[in-house]
Amino acid sequence: MHYRSTRGYIQTATAAEAIIEGIAPDGGLYVPTEAVPSFLLDQLPTSDYRELAKTIFTPYLTGFDNDAVLDSVNKAYSPDKFDHPSITPLHPLDDKLSVLELWHGPTSAFKDIALQLLPHLMRLAIRQSSEDKEIVILTATSGDTGKSALEGFKNIPGIKIVVYYPETGVSEIQKLQMTTQEGENVVVAAVKGNFDDAQNGVKTLFNDPRLAVTLADAGKRLSSANSINWGRLLPQIVYYFAAYLDLVKKGLSYGKKVNFVVPTGNFGNILAGYYAHCLGLPINRLICAANRNKVLSDFINSGIYNCRRPLHQTLSPSMDILISSNLERLLFELSNQDSELVNRWMKQLKQDGQYTISRAVHEKIRELFWSGCADDQKTINTIAGVYSQHNYLIDTHTAVGRAVLSEYLEQEADGLPAVILSTASPYKFTGSVTKAILGNSFNQNLSETELLKVLAAETGTAVPANLTGLEQKEIKHKQVIAPTAMRDHLLEILGIR
Ligand SMILES: *Cc1c(COP(=O)(O)O)cnc(C)c1O
Repeated sequence: MHYRSTRGYIQTATAAEAIIEGIAPDGGLYVPTEAVPSFLLDQLPTSDYRELAKTIFTPYLTGFDNDAVLDSVNKAYSPDKFDHPSITPLHPLDDKLSVLELWHGPTSAFKDIALQLLPHLMRLAIRQSSEDKEIVILTATSGDTGKSALEGFKNIPGIKIVVYYPETGVSEIQKLQMTTQEGENVVVAAVKGNFDDAQNGVKTLFNDPRLAVTLADAGKRLSSANSINWGRLLPQIVYYFAAYLDLVKKGLSYGKKVNFVVPTGNFGNILAGYYAHCLGLPINRLICAANRNKVLSDFINSGIYNCRRPLHQTLSPSMDILISSNLERLLFELSNQDSELVNRWMKQLKQDGQYTISRAVHEKIRELFWSGCADDQKTINTIAGVYSQHNYLIDTHTAVGRAVLSEYLEQEADGLPAVILSTASPYKFTGSVTKAILGNSFNQNLSETELLKVLAAETGTAVPANLTGLEQKEIKHKQVIAPTAMRDHLLEILGIR
């Protein structure tokens, strides 16, 4: 399998190159050059997530040593990283509805599924390509990605990880998770300003050719752990199959269709569902759930992508996004790999903040995708409703998914089983979840770390181990820098000046 750019760059890349580079030289995203034949569902391994992962990866990782891939998978999804033997357990709410818990990894967010594996894949990729430089992973984070990338890349030889988070805009728990990060090869710094300031600062570093030369002279090269990297998308295909095979164990017949509901931000998670569908997984609809920042819902319903609107801060901050990068891959695939069209739309997006897709592509999108949105009030009501009806706690992102599913079922009573992808532990957003469950009947002056105990005591559920004792940990990363100082900061921590 080779990979090519969605924008038509003439040269293809090997799997190893696609993973190391992250983004294609023309600014496009890497996609497989060929369709992988459908898997025979009844022949997939059903008892072990790791075996299933390896089976699904094999056709995509041409050139990788099979045993080394299995070894990577075993390391990534080991019992000391994930606190559930199924890795992504399926929790039934009733006979038609289940929640796929994607947050049993070391940082309690679904990004761990990909970011625990990506560092290992990157090491293998470096080993078998001609790459001789130290890889420096540069990441701007609005909260979840940073911590997840730090945990994945910490102490991985030959790779350094640098995370910039906005001084204002991450939750208290998210900030503590990052400032207390341990590891020999990790650097964390706050950037003055909001997420856009941190993100733009990182983009500027990636687009600075002089910096690239300086780094190359010092034997280093930048890479990205952002969700545009194919190595982040691939691991996410697995849990769609794992969920389906779990339903089969519980009585679903092979081949029967299922709806998946995905709380969506950068379109990475749901795009993995699209690739699962292409691999033969019987998916009826991929339901794209958005919060008040409903650019994607409007797009799926109208065929017009329009990001000329204010970005709202919501209770589901990991979905507060106006430009969903991974959508480009879907547009490429559904326009019969027409990179000219994709180029035109991406150029219009950059210049005018909007584009309109062709009717043919829009129709294909609407065949498989459905989308709706839920605001903060609906999110809170849904958390409370699910808790009182099912005695089950969900976080704010998962609640957006649950709310949008209700809207879907009102319009399309298809009677099919539905799986909601649960993207974060409720404890990661303790403030909002406690408020939803308890209303105003708790001490509003408590910090988020104190609220963990309140929520646990109230609901009889356990706080994930990685979130307990955070307030007692040593703060190792205290630096706060201006966006304009990021270049100097980077060179300094790399010992280049
Ligand atoms: C990143 C994230 C999302 C959005 O996922 P995408 O792949 O960007 O669509 C949703 N929920 C949580 C908790 C996240 O961390």
